[in-house]
Amino acid sequence: MKTILIIEDEKNVNELLAKTLSEADFETLSAYTGLEGLEFFRQKKVDLVLLDLMLPYKSGDEVLREIRRENDIPVIVISAKEMVRTKIDLLTLGADDYITKPFDLGEVTARVISCLRRYGGIGHNKQLIYKDMILDLEAKTVMVNGKEIALTATEYQILELFLQYPNKVFSKANLYETLWNEEYLGEENVIKTHISNLRNKLRSVSADTEYIETVWGLGYRLMQ
Ligand code: CA
Repeated sequence: MKTILIIEDEKNVNELLAKTLSEADFETLSAYTGLEGLEFFRQKKVDLVLLDLMLPYKSGDEVLREIRRENDIPVIVISAKEMVRTKIDLLTLGADDYITKPFDLGEVTARVISCLRRYGGIGHNKQLIYKDMILDLEAKTVMVNGKEIALTATEYQILELFLQYPNKVFSKANLYETLWNEEYLGEENVIKTHISNLRNKLRSVSADTEYIETVWGLGYRLMQ
């Protein structure tokens, strides 16, 4: 279940948002000042922040700036219409979207869902998982054994191919032509080098697991 942090000082508005989002199956946390909001943000698992701009003591844009210093969690700003000069202002602040008051509660829920979806949190499977490896198709990153490994673009592409077709044996010609979109003229050392570098990088974070299998005479595939 996704958790939405609501930072809004008007008690009735905060409660109304919490009630609406709970009905849409979200977990909610209500904070009534910016400081309290930041405290929740740092201490709890939060998936999205709904942030009012007009807050006492610490204003919403300060809160947003502090959140952005720490991570890129989706933030939807709630603001009075006259405060939103241009959408650019808010996007410059680091907001992902904004809603102007008075708002429609159904719209709030829809924005929250859409924002989480864009962020990759709901519905879309943008990760490929194999053993303890998580390949993120959007960020183009690979985590193994809990650690991100630094790959070259080619190494990443090879892994992505293997994870997309986990049973397929890729011949060197297959790999070469897919990766470089050029006819293979026997450049097998190029492929061998990339595979060997890739294996070394994987071994450096996960010494006991084999990820890539050599199928003698045929090519390579994910270890079955
Ligand atoms: Ca307010």
